[in-house]
Amino acid sequence: MADLRDLYQEVILEHSKAPRNYRELKPADHQAQGYNPLCGDRFTIYLQMDADRIRDISFQGSGCAISKASASMMTQSLKGKTRTEAHELFNNFHEVVTGQGGGRDQAELGKLAVFSGVCEFPLRVKCATLAWHTLEAALEGKQEAVSTE
Ligand code: ZN
Repeated sequence: MADLRDLYQEVILEHSKAPRNYRELKPADHQAQGYNPLCGDRFTIYLQMDADRIRDISFQGSGCAISKASASMMTQSLKGKTRTEAHELFNNFHEVVTGQGGGRDQAELGKLAVFSGVCEFPLRVKCATLAWHTLEAALEGKQEAVSTE
């Protein structure tokens, strides 16, 4: 498993150094801000919707490698997905990063499975899920910033 772990770390580092979809969407149909006070991660998620489908998604902000890589990979995974599919993917992702998911869930997660090692570091779970909580707030059209506290 050590090799796989190294590969996961490499993927996370690569995304944190060169985040995908890192820009402001103008005009955005929805946007929300998220903040993780424990680590100082702070991101804004932007969405353009096509009825119930995510046509485009982007983010901006700053944070640790895990939070940034998670936001980057989340935007890659969600483009073209419906709201329902996005919720399902988040539930799945949440189970894996909190160590409740089995192998089956990791297979469904695809690339996002690189975050499975996060379950060994409970404080890092908030880093990994911040972008997702912020996404949910954006989809629900919440105005106030989301905090993991
Ligand atoms: Zn963090």
